[in-house]
Amino acid sequence: MITDFKSKLQSINPEFVQFDTLKILQVNMGNLCNQRCIHCHVQASPKGTKIMSRDVMNKIVNFLRKRHGLTLDITGGCPEMNPHFRFFLESTHPFVSRLMVRTNLTILMEKGMEWISGWYKTQAVNRVLTRKRR
Ligand code: SF4
Repeated sequence: MITDFKSKLQSINPEFVQFDTLKILQVNMGNLCNQRCIHCHVQASPKGTKIMSRDVMNKIVNFLRKRHGLTLDITGGCPEMNPHFRFFLESTHPFVSRLMVRTNLTILMEKGMEWISGWYKTQAVNRVLTRKRR
């Protein structure tokens, strides 16, 4: 017998299926990454082909414009490798109360990525380190 996800959560704790209010929006920018970790749950790698388009980003920006004050939690893959990453940061930043980027940090040492550390620092971005398992 297959139990559906909602029923399973409800059996563990009924409060798990009660949606109160949206506080955090997590956005996955794709499976492109400069690493190739064997434990990666999105099978990200330098060959990743699932890359969020600017069109989708614009829809998220419009959503955040109407819902001021959310926390935006950006993940991937390696979000910094999305070709529209800077556009997405700069477009969403004015509308969110907190901006988090899940980074593997090694990307900050790659050519062309020098601007990112400074941007994170001046815009008070929370970086969440994801690290390679041994
Ligand atoms: S650094 Fe993170 S996103 Fe990249 S391959 Fe490793 S686990 Fe996946």
